[in-house]
Amino acid sequence: MLPVKRCHDESCAGAAAAAEEDLPVTAADGGSDEMAREALSLEVVWKGSERYPLMVPKYATVSSIKGLLEELTEVEAEGQKLLGLVKGRLPRDTDTLAELGVRSGTRVRLVGTRAADRLRTRAGSWQERDAGAPAIPDHPAAAATADGPVTGREHEVVSTDVRSRLDSVIKHAELRVMNSPRQGRKLVVLDMDYTLFDCKNMSGNVVEMARPGLHEFLAAVYPHYDLIVWSQTKWHVLECKITLLGMVAHPGYKLITALDISTMLDVKTIRSGRPTKHQVKPLEFIWARFQGTYTRSNTIHVDDLGRNFALNRQNGLKIRPYKRADTRTRTDTELYRLTRYLLAIARLPTLEFLDHAQWRSYR
Ligand SMILES: [Mg+2]
Repeated sequence: MLPVKRCHDESCAGAAAAAEEDLPVTAADGGSDEMAREALSLEVVWKGSERYPLMVPKYATVSSIKGLLEELTEVEAEGQKLLGLVKGRLPRDTDTLAELGVRSGTRVRLVGTRAADRLRTRAGSWQERDAGAPAIPDHPAAAATADGPVTGREHEVVSTDVRSRLDSVIKHAELRVMNSPRQGRKLVVLDMDYTLFDCKNMSGNVVEMARPGLHEFLAAVYPHYDLIVWSQTKWHVLECKITLLGMVAHPGYKLITALDISTMLDVKTIRSGRPTKHQVKPLEFIWARFQGTYTRSNTIHVDDLGRNFALNRQNGLKIRPYKRADTRTRTDTELYRLTRYLLAIARLPTLEFLDHAQWRSYR
């Protein structure tokens, strides 16, 4: 079988651009499952002793591997050097493993220093604090900032400058539209890490770290819903994930866009009686940038972190986090259940009056 690229312009960074221009993107479809599963194992060694076994498709570019390694090590991709992929030189970011003739089992040395901002640690701590937390109330009112204990306002948003900062994000954040919205469709906004993908488990084939039923789910709801992915990661990492998972040019669905951490917002909410700073995904960003198309009444936001709904609680549907893709593959049925729910509510004139907390028992 000939090696293939998923990315039109020979780089991971080109995939979205290719989709945006509606250009053909080679072999990134779900029908190429066999091709996608043709994988190589790599052992990446960092700092002499830290080892990261990876299983990646042969069409993966050096750039996409750096993106995955950034996720695992927090060493920013642009500062990484990968030694040992090819002899005697550093590979280009746009080279694929197949082009470089990399063999399975190759040991690679990662050279790079961890950046100051530790996205993984922060995300992990939010995840833990969010577990089992009660729901954030609807329509949180902006109120005075308080630094001492606060009673009776649990999960209330207390930042006073949300409006101005949100306006700034709406005005300035980059939006990469891959496909045009379709008339009359509702919108599903999907978190990436732990909702669609086990982001910390790279020891199996990356393609297989997708949540069970991922592509079937997206293809099943696509006739009724436009799709936007929103992830608390930097763009190049997010782009690598959606590209390697085959979500950029799947024949059964198209993504409208993928939003990265630059479109998220810091807020303070009352947690355990104290103002706690965390990030949220403000749906108003989407509603403003796709004005008249997506609204409060036709949008549903699926995420494993309830705190991401803080500014748009009613639109949020909390899904169980998907972790340990290697052991839970056969038992996780969340996306199949979610398919049933989204299809059941697809023809409602508005979603504004639904309590998505009851999604599992909706009839
Ligand atoms: Mg998540």
